[in-house]
Amino acid sequence: MKPELRLLIVETSAAEAEGLLEVLRGQGYAATASVVSGSAALREALAAPDCKAVICCHPVAGCPAATALALVQELRPDLPFIVLARESNLELAVGLMKLGAHDYLPAGELLRLGPALERELRDAAVRRRHKLIEHRLHESHELFRAIVENVGDLVAVLDTEGRRVYNSPSYRPLFHERDIRRGSNSFAEIHPEDRERIRAIFRRTVETGIGECAEFRFVLKDGSIRFMESDGRAIRDADGKVSKVVVVSRDITEQKRLEAELREMAATDMLTGLPNRRHFLAQLEQECARVHRDREHSASVLMIDIDHFKAVNDSRGHVAGDQVLRHLATVMRQELRRVDTLGRLGGEEFAIILPGAALADAELFANRLRSKVAESVATHEGCALPVTISIGVSEIHAADAGADDVLGRADRALYCAKEGGRNRVVTEA
Ligand code: GH3
Ligand code: MG
Ligand code: MG
Repeated sequence: MKPELRLLIVETSAAEAEGLLEVLRGQGYAATASVVSGSAALREALAAPDCKAVICCHPVAGCPAATALALVQELRPDLPFIVLARESNLELAVGLMKLGAHDYLPAGELLRLGPALERELRDAAVRRRHKLIEHRLHESHELFRAIVENVGDLVAVLDTEGRRVYNSPSYRPLFHERDIRRGSNSFAEIHPEDRERIRAIFRRTVETGIGECAEFRFVLKDGSIRFMESDGRAIRDADGKVSKVVVVSRDITEQKRLEAELREMAATDMLTGLPNRRHFLAQLEQECARVHRDREHSASVLMIDIDHFKAVNDSRGHVAGDQVLRHLATVMRQELRRVDTLGRLGGEEFAIILPGAALADAELFANRLRSKVAESVATHEGCALPVTISIGVSEIHAADAGADDVLGRADRALYCAKEGGRNRVVTEA
């Protein structure tokens, strides 16, 4: 026996309706029905949720098939509507089918009713399913829009070639509309130095289906550069093949700027703006490693100490002393090549790395520097503050274990310079 089937029959004669049900039962359907004969009763009966299909005999006094059909379409558009004509009327059949009836059985073809019903019920189930999918699709589309259009992040949907399918509205203030239109190349706005790397990551995501995080720079319409952090995610089609990639990017420019500022601050001496001890020593270790690697490369180090600096502090005050330190940093910086590194090791001690300079060259440079400083005058509150420095020089040896070795030698030379009367240069090979 087929599943129970609850019908709505539009028919004036209860006996005729029962006859119809008998036919269906004879075809294996456990069919029951509400029988109505007027449009008011039909309206009421359509409210019953268990009704699966409407069979409308025609003509029925008080409720022509077209009226019944309009009512069903208004109240239960999901229900199959089958017209059963008492006499063949082709014109009527075409008219009703045009209006949306699902089937029309002329008189004498009652035996087709079972199969027709079965087919229409199947089609109705498919229609319901489509509608449900459509509804869910619409809902998820709305959800997607609600999310992407309200987050500050940049959301882009790309095809597997990296062409734009969708951009969230947050893209608009950053790029020209024409550049980010559908189908345009999404790599075009990426900084040229980052472009190939990001393209390679994108290709990998398409090939493997595994999304990756990446950092890159955007070049905006005004030419400015923004640092972005992005997350790619592969979208697969029904066959499991990657068909799209969703990229969510976040502007991390401010974070990058703060990081750089912090790095800079951690490496800089606040008073003079020079590299601090830690940063200088790191540079020196690198230079020692270079000398160790490349026996052709020479480099020297100068240790510098202000002469009688305590006297400046004592006689003119600490603020004047600070001014001398800043002045000295400025004068020495002017004498450097781009490759040289000047650092403040602490207090009134400075040091310089001279890459490419053997001991004799470094000594020449140190003497020139010493003279420049001696010739210069720092001023504080209109008072001249003369300053001289003593310098110890040593060359980095390939055999040095590290920065401490060369600094030790330069420090000993500096001590000798102080012992020798100050404002002078002493070397230790
Ligand atoms: P010498 O010629 O032997 O080097 O004599 P000096 O007086 O320079 O040597 P000393 O090391 O005895 O004194 C260094 C002084 O530097 C002591 C300290 O007050 C001063 N000093 C260290 N750091 C700072 C600073 O940041 N600002 C100021 N104003 N003075 C500092
Ligand atoms: Mg000192
Ligand atoms: Mg000193």
